Amino acid sequence: MNAVILLGAPGSGKGTQAARLAESLGMPHISTGAILRQAVTDGTELGVAARDIMAAGRLVSDEIVLGIVEARVSAHDCRRGFILDGYPRNRAQARALGEVLSRLGATEWIANIAVPAEELAARVRGRRGTDGRQDDSEEAFRRRLEVYESESLPLLDYYGDRASNVSGLGSRDEVFGRLCAALPFATAQLVTQ
Ligand code: AMP
Repeated sequence: MNAVILLGAPGSGKGTQAARLAESLGMPHISTGAILRQAVTDGTELGVAARDIMAAGRLVSDEIVLGIVEARVSAHDCRRGFILDGYPRNRAQARALGEVLSRLGATEWIANIAVPAEELAARVRGRRGTDGRQDDSEEAFRRRLEVYESESLPLLDYYGDRASNVSGLGSRDEVFGRLCAALPFATAQLVTQ
């Protein structure tokens, strides 16, 4: 079982690349942000608990997101592997994920999509209004970037050599090509398809 962990700032293109990778490899794309947004839309208990935190660009509690991830990766369609997008977001989540993955006997593949901060801000300004994301407002985005820098960026130290750095600049195809090259198992599977 292959577990792909995609790291990257808000606006890095992580969601787009995760979806494409998932489609190419025939593995589920697990976006904790998308699961939470759906819960908000559905007005479930989870959605009610997460709504204001998400709108403000802050992190939902580790306990809640771990519950979501544990349930999702245990599903039958994840038996060959899955692509994680937006999890882990801090060291505590990374440690919890490590335990889940070792229980599943999964091999980890970690890639970080690196994009300079000015470019991130320009991209999010560009998608504002078209994506309908409440947390793309100027203030919420600034907060998400701060949270990313203080909580999520340290994951690069946490994973060290286990994480491959991929430049997120250029076209989507270029980034996808680099990402596949950084994930040897993915290259092998794409070639044999
Ligand atoms: P994303 O779509 O990944 O940018 O996530 C949107 C929002 O959902 C984030 O700003 C957080 O409020 C929440 N969220 C998503 N994933 C996590 C996570 N792993 N831990 C905490 N909050 C999360």
